Amino acid sequence: ATPISIMVGIGKAAEHGILIRSGDALQQAGRLTTLVLDKTGTVTEGRPTVTAVEAASGRNENEVLRLAAALEAGSNHPLAAAILAAAEARTLELPKAEGFENLTGKGLRGRIGEREVLVGQAAFMREQGVSEAAWAARIEALAGRGATPVCVAADGELIGLVAIEDPIRPGMTDIIRAMHGMGLKVALVTGDHRITAQAVAGQIGIDEVRAEVLPEGKIDYVQQLQAKGEVVAMVGDGINDAPALSQADVGFAIGAGTDVAIESADVTLMRASLQGVLTAIQLSRATVRNIW
Ligand code: ADP
Ligand code: MG
Repeated sequence: ATPISIMVGIGKAAEHGILIRSGDALQQAGRLTTLVLDKTGTVTEGRPTVTAVEAASGRNENEVLRLAAALEAGSNHPLAAAILAAAEARTLELPKAEGFENLTGKGLRGRIGEREVLVGQAAFMREQGVSEAAWAARIEALAGRGATPVCVAADGELIGLVAIEDPIRPGMTDIIRAMHGMGLKVALVTGDHRITAQAVAGQIGIDEVRAEVLPEGKIDYVQQLQAKGEVVAMVGDGINDAPALSQADVGFAIGAGTDVAIESADVTLMRASLQGVLTAIQLSRATVRNIW
């Protein structure tokens, strides 16, 4: 493509709220073969809310939520905001946590009074020696409808669950269909539970899913696809997507996402829709054909 046609392409993209950092990124977009989409905050709106709190027998919901929120007060994860809002809605008094630790992509650990508390995914509970066997069916049922089950344990025992749901962005099914129609493969990648990820993917027509991955796992996945000869775009919003956004042939950041994601990306989508990914690819293909 000529320098002029690249300038025109970047200008047209900007009219659609698509900020392309370089002429190279614009040209690469037209060569993409696989799109890897982050789930939370990318395919979903990134506004998770608590839809249920469940307590083991002999425990109560407020105790479960109070302990979870006391730890989440130290986290800036989107799930933390949901749990804190739910605790506030019930006007729960939050005790102070000590020895707080944030295990990225897994959950939180800390002491509340005399109690050792863990908050996070089921795999993290197992890893910490807490059995979630009694809750396995409940966890799978919640995940099966696309919710994220957050487990709460105190002194080595699972005392309850907080179910969190984040709506899928409007129009996603049509957008995925259009991506497939343009000959692109589409994959969903997330740190979330495998069944949650499969439920969300199934609802919008994505057939390839990588779940329960840590941030390093996202970059590994992009590298694996590249090693097979795929030209890969990563689309993400979070700090945990930044390494994969840099590794991808074209990184797309959601404009409402974190600064780190935007800095690591080649393209920023100012409108909260993945339609911008399609538009960028279409403009790139037109630019490379020098049609303007
Ligand atoms: P994603 O890839 O979907 O953006 P993350 O890598 O941030 O997700 O987190 C993966 C999973 O780890 C979450 O779905 C959740 O189960 C658990 N997790 C991470 N951080 C927290 C937290 N602050 N509170 C509870 N659970 C958490
Ligand atoms: Mg995300």
